[in-house]
Amino acid sequence: MHAQTALPDFVEPLPHGVYVVDTGFHRPRFDASFLIVDRGRAAFIDTGTNRSVPRLLAALDALGLHRDAVDYVIPTHVHLDHAGGVALLMEHLPGARVVVHPRGARHMIDPSRLMAGATAVYGAEEMERSYGDVRGVPAERVLSSADGMTLALGGRELAFLDTPGHARHHHAIWDAASQGVYTGDTFGLSYRELDTEAGPWIMPTSTPVQFDPVAMRRSIEKILALQPTWLYLTHYSRVGEPERLAALLLGQLDRMVALARSVDQACPPGAERHAALMQGLEAIHWKSLQAHGSPLSRTEVDELLALDLELNAQGIGVWLDRQRA
Ligand SMILES: [Zn+2]
Repeated sequence: MHAQTALPDFVEPLPHGVYVVDTGFHRPRFDASFLIVDRGRAAFIDTGTNRSVPRLLAALDALGLHRDAVDYVIPTHVHLDHAGGVALLMEHLPGARVVVHPRGARHMIDPSRLMAGATAVYGAEEMERSYGDVRGVPAERVLSSADGMTLALGGRELAFLDTPGHARHHHAIWDAASQGVYTGDTFGLSYRELDTEAGPWIMPTSTPVQFDPVAMRRSIEKILALQPTWLYLTHYSRVGEPERLAALLLGQLDRMVALARSVDQACPPGAERHAALMQGLEAIHWKSLQAHGSPLSRTEVDELLALDLELNAQGIGVWLDRQRA
């Protein structure tokens, strides 16, 4: 440990030795990395992209933590806004191991298939702009999680849960010391711009290509069964009231599935179906936000959710095609 300095504005301290680092990906307060510090030992949960790594290192510096104080780098899943910076970060952390879901491990070691998949979704230009050159992590530095596995970090314990639904390579992490679960994308998206007097609002994320609504519901229920006080969402940060948020999330998930089935009856796969899904999703979330008392205009909401609506519509399309196959 060396002297702690003032925290940069992109690092926010939470109770229980948890810090949320705004990775800067896409827009402010969109994409989080969580830094857990316990008795001088540290772990990152999610990293943002390669472009986020200087912020993660600056957070360590500001907290007076040497780079060999980091024991674990834990992507919740291998989508690039969560894991794109893992390999580059690891090059700076000599004592750390990557802890990843067993279905994601090979993609951390050799990211070529992951990059090809992401390029199919985002296009080559956006890949270079947002993600840069994603390298692999040496295999001996990668540890696969298992459902129920625990790891010690300083004086606390982190427990891993298999949580498919958003992606099959997704685990969540139960942190008993803070009574919180790091949920990645399994427990949806909750942007602070959409908070009202009723508290935070939340919506599901069905990003391509492994969305599975049945598994998502089961994973949400599995997280709730731990009776957490807090949920640490990568998009974005810590929220309370897990039961209320789960009801909001599952209600919208049911409406998304009903929409998908009715659009699938009306349109074959293609641009028309995608447009109908986009329009239907927008209406579902807008209606939910109205009930939540959001004062934002429909245009403001559409702008804020533009990327998520696009990805959710794409992911539901892939799911429908898989159902047909
Ligand atoms: Zn994701």
